Amino acid sequence: MRRRLLLILPALQQLDNYAFRLIKYSRFPPLSLLTIAGMTPEDEWDIMVRDEHIESSQVDGHVDLVGIQTYISCAGRAYELAAHWRARGAKVVLGGLHPTSLPAEAIQHADAICTGPAETAWPRVLEDFERGRLQGVYRGTCPGSAALVPLPRRDLMNPHAYLIRNTMVTSRGCPHSCDFCYKSSFWGPTYYEARPIAEIERELSTVEDGLVFFLDDNLLANRRHARAMFDLLRGSGVVWQAAASLDVTRDPGYLDEAYEAGCRSLFVGFESISPENMRGNNKTVNATTDYLEACRRFHDAGIMINGSFVFGFDCDGPDVFERTVEFAIEAKILTATFHVLTPLPGTPAFERLAEDDRILNRKWEYYDTDHAVFRPRRMSPERLEAGHKRAYRDFLTYSSIFRRSLGLPGAVKRLAYNIAWMKVDPVWVAIVRLGLMPYATRLFNRLLRFNTRVKPSGQLLKPSPL
Ligand code: SF4
Repeated sequence: MRRRLLLILPALQQLDNYAFRLIKYSRFPPLSLLTIAGMTPEDEWDIMVRDEHIESSQVDGHVDLVGIQTYISCAGRAYELAAHWRARGAKVVLGGLHPTSLPAEAIQHADAICTGPAETAWPRVLEDFERGRLQGVYRGTCPGSAALVPLPRRDLMNPHAYLIRNTMVTSRGCPHSCDFCYKSSFWGPTYYEARPIAEIERELSTVEDGLVFFLDDNLLANRRHARAMFDLLRGSGVVWQAAASLDVTRDPGYLDEAYEAGCRSLFVGFESISPENMRGNNKTVNATTDYLEACRRFHDAGIMINGSFVFGFDCDGPDVFERTVEFAIEAKILTATFHVLTPLPGTPAFERLAEDDRILNRKWEYYDTDHAVFRPRRMSPERLEAGHKRAYRDFLTYSSIFRRSLGLPGAVKRLAYNIAWMKVDPVWVAIVRLGLMPYATRLFNRLLRFNTRVKPSGQLLKPSPL
């Protein structure tokens, strides 16, 4: 008899405004759930995937097994859903970052939990479920897991809800060990593994719209892997975005290679404009990088910057918000996210603050990078939260958008991209509800392709044919 499996991404709890959830989370589908679906035998299971940021997770009829991806800030909602489905007679498994960092807490709310990579745990979960002995902790092991990543079941996601349909992972882990980074509690501090290149090629061949967001922790960290990826991507017609650390700017030729292979935007963790903060949190690569020069090199290569900044480190005083936004404007950073420092369980940052008795609460729904859950050293928690909000506002003013867009090649395109990315909120809900996302995707795709680049000599180059 066929079984029914329901895979759920619970809504982040502080985001009780449905419209805001759509705005914030309709950019990417839940890749982990689609990957777990890809590991589940199609001939034995009917699989449903529900992302609560864009739709209800409720389904009619009996469900045999429920898998819930559990981030820290949605843990409360995940536990609620687990109780609901267990009361309806289903077996419930929790997996993801939060059960991995706090297994003793998570197991109290489910029949079983998966910790670490699902590729080496999920098949055992299914086997034990079939035998009626599902229980306890299923520990996924890291080494060898990257080779087991299956094709994600993109056919199961809501086809009109996401801006970028093709998210992919080609490697896992990162050579750096920043104290605040969650990857260390999931993968361990030193683990790095790339997927076999033939597997990546197979997955890339399923990309139909020429647009990919790589979700690797740090795609460009391992040059051998990255260059093998460049070989696959160069000339393929795919434009892509990914995350990278600042060390990639030490070799401008490497950035040129990335551009030639279709890279158009990189998510870069600047974290703090204070080198002391970076040294104090083991992100020495940032402490030893000239940020303005690094930004110039990204721009010379034709690669747009999506910057990430964190407030609340020990050297941050009340002026940090204004100084950070001023830097982002001066460096012409196109898009940015700002975060309140959030000590995540299992990280050295959490351990240190807990030892100093500076953790204010363990209500996980507030661990969402919008709230201060610890006592900062040089300002009050309230001032930290207010400064964080103000930084967003100041970064998103039209004056800031103009200053960040003008003065670089492709200014009109940068302006359009900036406004499209940062100012579409009032129409975003309508775009999702009216099923217009495919048009938004096409527009976004075009904006990415019309990227003009400038070589260090100042010579303008046409976009390279892809
Ligand atoms: S460079 Fe980025 S991914 Fe790597 S450890 Fe630091 S924060 Fe995490």
